[in-house]
Amino acid sequence: MTKHTQPSAKALVPFVSVDNMMRLIHHVGLEQMLCDLAGYVEDDFKRWELFDKTPRVASHSDVGVIELMPTSDGESYGFKYVNGHPKNTSEGLQTVTAFGLLADVYTGYPVLLTEMTILTALRTAATSAMVAKYLAPKGATTMAMIGNGAQSEFQSLAMKAICGITSVRLYDKDAAATAKCAANLAGTGLNVVICTSPEQAIEGAQILTTCTADKQSATILSDNMVGAGVHINAIGGDCPGKTELAAGILSRSDVFVEFPPQTRVEGEIQQMPEDFPVTEIWQVITGAKTGRSSAEQITLFDSVGFAIEDFSALRYVRDQIKGSDFFFELDMLADPDDPRDLFGMVQRAAS
Ligand code: NAD
Repeated sequence: MTKHTQPSAKALVPFVSVDNMMRLIHHVGLEQMLCDLAGYVEDDFKRWELFDKTPRVASHSDVGVIELMPTSDGESYGFKYVNGHPKNTSEGLQTVTAFGLLADVYTGYPVLLTEMTILTALRTAATSAMVAKYLAPKGATTMAMIGNGAQSEFQSLAMKAICGITSVRLYDKDAAATAKCAANLAGTGLNVVICTSPEQAIEGAQILTTCTADKQSATILSDNMVGAGVHINAIGGDCPGKTELAAGILSRSDVFVEFPPQTRVEGEIQQMPEDFPVTEIWQVITGAKTGRSSAEQITLFDSVGFAIEDFSALRYVRDQIKGSDFFFELDMLADPDDPRDLFGMVQRAAS
């Protein structure tokens, strides 16, 4: 092969497959990786203002949504492709799958392509726990985990590693999902309690996580279920017409969000008037706004997932794989030695 028929080495793009992502997790350690990712997200939330921010671009169908989530800090550009199809599990498929790309803003060349289905579960859990660190009541030990699907173990372990919870109380409308989650969490050091109703799950819990998937406005928590002083980590309501909380809870809570223009369309607050007061969580992290101000306050993280969290996760993976064998190099970028001779490169490939 001549050098003309091969792309030059600089154009090969590191690709992290699902297998390699799993190897990376076991190499770093799951809880350590959740802590590391939370650190990357926290660092990027501290420099929130310099990012390009746009609500994600969503393509809805009757059964789900496909979304693109782009952002840039001026040096790197990242995007994630992600879907949300609640009906998928009944067909043996994941509700959420994703992959993502990081590029160099100066050249526009991709520098990383990676699976992001697992990485999304990690970054969502890391973000939840990083936010709970600022908002949850002091000394919280117990979390109710309602919705025991793909995200649930990651959510539980992030709250353990980052916020120090010691017990999770599991509930899912499908007992098989709860049994799976309980089995997966056995031996992690968490005290796991299987519950048969959401009311039972929230008993004695200071953190209430809702992470269900249903393409409708559901009421996973009703107003009378939520007492003073708890922190609600609302993960599953993340699309127009897809919510988990009774509106009355929102009225009694201080609501913290990622990016208001996206959350007002996709989050729990889509149920509320357009001027419903919210606090941007990055401002709590920088110290510009107050997070939890009293023991009685109900704090609510109305999480929908924002592009900067994926950017942080992409940055983390790029940094981790340097000098490792956790990636392949992909020939996905045509890069002729003479940049204006793209055609010539194609012709030479005939020989
Ligand atoms: P999943 O389909 O694997 O699990 C969802 C679980 O919810 C299932 O076990 C299902 O039985 C349960 N469930 C549905 N309705 C319920 C109800 N009324 N009461 C109790 N349990 C119920 O999905 P997943 O990958 O774990 O994702 C969960 C949700 O989180 C999805 O809606 C997804 O879109 C959302 N999500 C949000 C973010 C974010 O950043 N905020 C990131 C990833 C996923």
